[in-house]
Amino acid sequence: MSLLVVGSVAFDAIETPFGKTDKIVGGAATYISLSASYFTNDINLVAVVGDDFPQEDIQEFKKRGVNTDGLQIKAGQKSFFWSGKYHNDMNSRDTLVTELNVLGDFDPVIPGTYQGADFLMLGNLSPKVQQTVIERLHRKPKLIVMDTMNFWMEIAMADLCKTISMVDVLTINDEEARQLSGEYSLVKAAAKIRSMGPHTLIIKKGEHGALLFGDKEIFFAPALPLEDVFDPTGAGDTFAGGFIGYLAKTGDISFENMKRAIMYGSAMASYCVEKFGTQRLKELSQSAIFDRLQQFRTLTTYDIESKQD
Ligand code: AMP
Repeated sequence: MSLLVVGSVAFDAIETPFGKTDKIVGGAATYISLSASYFTNDINLVAVVGDDFPQEDIQEFKKRGVNTDGLQIKAGQKSFFWSGKYHNDMNSRDTLVTELNVLGDFDPVIPGTYQGADFLMLGNLSPKVQQTVIERLHRKPKLIVMDTMNFWMEIAMADLCKTISMVDVLTINDEEARQLSGEYSLVKAAAKIRSMGPHTLIIKKGEHGALLFGDKEIFFAPALPLEDVFDPTGAGDTFAGGFIGYLAKTGDISFENMKRAIMYGSAMASYCVEKFGTQRLKELSQSAIFDRLQQFRTLTTYDIESKQD
């Protein structure tokens, strides 16, 4: 089924305890599309870059079945730039620079051929732009998934709440869930956020996995314990790409299938962090993804008596 992806396509500069990069290609929609491309080749991208963005990276999208007709290239302007620094605890990071550049006045144009999308993934972007995308679709997709971050809570809370009220699934990290809801307990935070609109909420907890909150159930997906995490940048987006990619492939949006989808998302994210930027994500194979899912199964399956003595 067709998947529409919206989000930043960007340059990032990253510093981790393992090293430092100059400007490399990143952005929420980049990670989402690359990750989802292992599950479906019916992906339509809506984003904006400046004419400083490398042509070869646009070709890379195309090679992977990502339609770039909706990628605007602004002559004489600069692409979005983000820079972040991780400390030894890679669960937290400092944002050093956010230069919106072309994202500052991004007007998302949806090509006619993109209309009728079955799945919509709203990657991290201004909530106003995310909202405009929903409004510009002639038919409501089967499922709308949205990601966001604290940056937008600080500068655009009212817009953010409005956009959240229009989506089916929200993915955010634990600190952001607390900030958004004003609740420390993640169970209370989830109840509050779900009352704002989304019927399903995913709270990402970095190396401690992810929680999926539905109507009556909660499901937990661990993260794979890895010896070395080189660069967590994009792990959340890669997770979202695996999640929605798997849903788009199967077409099933039941809670049971979302449980499987977050395992696929977790497997993709576990690969993403093994190298800097999008590098690892570009060199995967179906069998590598399959193997990692089996590792997750081994990690979490156990036998226990079903009757009490
Ligand atoms: P993640 O590590 O999954 O939270 O995503 C990191 C990616 O998000 C980087 O590649 C950045 O380019 C992108 N990013 C960071 N801040 C923003 C922002 N305010 N709006 C859109 N994208 C962003």
